[in-house]
Amino acid sequence: MLSLCLPQPAAAQAEIRIGVLDFLGAEATVDEWSPLLHHLERSLPGHPLSLLQLDHARMRAAVIAGELDFVITNPGHYVELEAELGASRILTLDGGGGRSPERALGSAVIVRAERAELGTLKDLRGQRVAIVGREGFGGFQLFWGALTAVGLSPDDDLAALHAVGFPMNRVLEAVASGRADAGVVRTCVLESLGAGAAAFRVLAPRNEPGFPCATSTPLYPDWPLASLPHTAPALAKAVAIALLSMEGGRDGLAWAVPADYQAVHELFRRLEIGPYAYLREPTLRVMAQRYWPWVGGFALLMLGWILYTVRVEYLVQKRTAALSAALTERDRLEASARAAQEQADHLARLSVLGELSGTLAHELNQPLATITNYASSVIRRADNGRLTDAALREATAEIAAQAERASAILGRIRAFARKRTAAREGVEPRELATEAIALFRGMMARAPQVSLVDTLPAGARIAVDRLQIQQVLLNLLKNGYDASREQPPARQALEVRLASTDGKLDISVRDYGSGLDATAQQHLFEAFFTTKTDGLGLGLSICRSIAEAHGGRLIATSPAAAPDSDSGPGTCFTLSLPGLTCDHAHD
Ligand code: ADP
Repeated sequence: MLSLCLPQPAAAQAEIRIGVLDFLGAEATVDEWSPLLHHLERSLPGHPLSLLQLDHARMRAAVIAGELDFVITNPGHYVELEAELGASRILTLDGGGGRSPERALGSAVIVRAERAELGTLKDLRGQRVAIVGREGFGGFQLFWGALTAVGLSPDDDLAALHAVGFPMNRVLEAVASGRADAGVVRTCVLESLGAGAAAFRVLAPRNEPGFPCATSTPLYPDWPLASLPHTAPALAKAVAIALLSMEGGRDGLAWAVPADYQAVHELFRRLEIGPYAYLREPTLRVMAQRYWPWVGGFALLMLGWILYTVRVEYLVQKRTAALSAALTERDRLEASARAAQEQADHLARLSVLGELSGTLAHELNQPLATITNYASSVIRRADNGRLTDAALREATAEIAAQAERASAILGRIRAFARKRTAAREGVEPRELATEAIALFRGMMARAPQVSLVDTLPAGARIAVDRLQIQQVLLNLLKNGYDASREQPPARQALEVRLASTDGKLDISVRDYGSGLDATAQQHLFEAFFTTKTDGLGLGLSICRSIAEAHGGRLIATSPAAAPDSDSGPGTCFTLSLPGLTCDHAHD
């Protein structure tokens, strides 16, 4: 570090402390900036002046420590100090001679004149390149930017990157001696060599109209003079005014209003250095900034997925609610249909009983008359004194038997007529048919002959609602009786047949009565279809629904009459029920 102090004047005013970036070496720096110091001394008498020559790190430390009022540094270092420590440019060097404050600096990539094979920046791939150091603006960073613009990386694509340090002449020496194939220097350094420049050539010189030197990169603004946050505004203003009036003169050192350093910002952002070094850090924020299209796309996908899931969930819940409401409604309807069916079954049973009640009264009359007869004869014999023990025993035994008969008839009717809910149980078909026939015959005054033909294997069983099936059989027997009672006695017999086909139980009720005409055949099973004056027309429709409730069916056929008999064709109703099982233990 070199400190150049001028003698203190008598009336001491605010000190003006200026830091300059050292890139030429101590003596050169003094020479470079002494016109500035002299001009300020003349323009601002009474202000003690000091000029500190500092490298990058020391200048930064001095700014932080508040030891400087102004800094003069290269554009790259300036944008770092601006971003980090609040430095604010108030002037930009105006080099003159074809250079403007905006277009003053570039990098010249030099090669030895005879290296004809090196023509463009791309030709540097695999070559050794000498630079001053990575912090050099014209000495490296502008070259770096130009290299990346042609798709090369200084670290990956060059054979070597030699940092030879200041002064810049060392770069030229490295190229001249063959230690490097190319070197990077500030623009105009080569031209300042005079005759010595002939040994070198600038690689890929750009067309920059009016610019006095060859450049391999675009041009950037010149060095700024910047005040610092703690610099008194009045002092900054006084220095700015003083320096704006400085003539270029022999040294070419003049100042202009500050240039726009946006191009430097853009370069640094592209290279991710200086204030933009954070872009290299893989923090979440940086990743998000760098990869925002991907992050955004992913976030959108996630959002879409979440919305889709929520919607699907909502729809599922809605449908589930609708479904369970529909199921509840169906259950309710089924329950009420079941209740109505039970009610109808009950009414149908009562109706069958009603139809049979005339004959039932007659049937009960018989045991009651017998009882009356026996009781009267006991009384008479007692009166005559002829009542023997044997006669009394016979009469009372007969009375008891007749009373039992009447009670059995009434018991069967009560069981049949009672109101109850449907219930399945395993029964033997033969037992079922026998009971139904007994019930039917028990209620008839002159019961027709009912034969039972059982072709089922032994131990055959089926799970049914016993009363419902009995109700069907009773109905079919009653219809058969109605259809044949006007016929000659030979055609009044009824036949119940039990058979099995394919694991199904077939119960047929056959009569030899009037048979079915076309209308009856068509409407037989419809509710309220009847051809009888006292009929309801409900019997067969209920019988069919009972069959279907058991998973079976009820059909009517008109069998051909037997050739050797004078019996009519009659009708045969067949009730088919699934689920016939065979208990082999009884085989
Ligand atoms: P209902 O006995 O009250 O008339 P059904 O539904 O039991 O009611 O019978 C409907 C009709 O079917 C009867 O009126 C009758 O015309 C006819 N039918 C039923 N069974 C027979 C049968 N075995 N022979 C001839 N016709 C029958």
